[in-house]
Amino acid sequence: MSETKTSGPDRTGERFFPDTMPAPLASTTTLPFWQAAAEHRLVVQRCTACGHTRLPPAPICPACRSAEADWKELSGRGEIYTYTIVHRPIAAGQPLPCVIAVIALDDSGGLRIMSNVVGAKPEEIAIGLPVELVWEDMSPDLAVPRFRPSPAAENQR
Ligand SMILES: [Zn+2]
Repeated sequence: MSETKTSGPDRTGERFFPDTMPAPLASTTTLPFWQAAAEHRLVVQRCTACGHTRLPPAPICPACRSAEADWKELSGRGEIYTYTIVHRPIAAGQPLPCVIAVIALDDSGGLRIMSNVVGAKPEEIAIGLPVELVWEDMSPDLAVPRFRPSPAAENQR
């Protein structure tokens, strides 16, 4: 993905997982998603014929079969729809336990994304917990969306 190189000014350099974690691969369909991610923007496809949103990206709208779509940027806020806590590593050096979660994304038309919840103890994780997006820069060209409890969740922790 070297063609997606950007020089975003807001890079935190925050890492949550080791370099040995497998990096996602882009296809021609998903490349715009990863290019936006490299700029720390979470985008989903929106059908320009019927308005249906979809994630992951796909070449055809599952609602009306149109191939026409644009990209909608989301706030990155949402809540935990479901989750699991992982105690066995899938990559060397992986901090454990870690949380794999499905996040129900606000302002997305009902979309959910599978990701990790970071910055919280496993016992603090709960279905319905408000979360916000945080980017993990795996390289200058690749940023992966993760989520952490939002400040609004402090009262629930
Ligand atoms: Zn459609």
